[in-house]
Amino acid sequence: MLKVGPLDFSVELKTNIYDLDKRALYGTVLHSEQRILLDAEQPPQLMQSSFLHEVLHAIDDMVQAELTERQVSVLAPALLMVLRDNGLLKEDDPE
Ligand SMILES: [Zn+2]
Repeated sequence: MLKVGPLDFSVELKTNIYDLDKRALYGTVLHSEQRILLDAEQPPQLMQSSFLHEVLHAIDDMVQAELTERQVSVLAPALLMVLRDNGLLKEDDPE
C-alpha cells in the first residue's frame, strides 16, 4: 500500500497495460479504485520513474494542482534524479 494523503493506493505490477486509445503504458493510476498499476516488464530505473510519475498524478489529484501530462512527465525523472543523486533511494529494485 502507498499512502497519499488520506488515501491508500495499492501498487500492482502487471503486464499489458493500455490506455483508452489502446496505447501501451509503463504505468497508470486508477484514482477511483485507488490503484497504481506498473508494467512489470520495464527496466528497474524506468520502473522508478514510472512509479514517481503515477505518484505525482495521485498527489495532483489530491491537491488539485491541475498539472499537465507534460509537467508530470518532466517532474518525475527530475525528482528521481535528485533522490538518486542524494542517496535517498533504497538500493533494492522496487519489485
Ligand atoms: Zn501520466
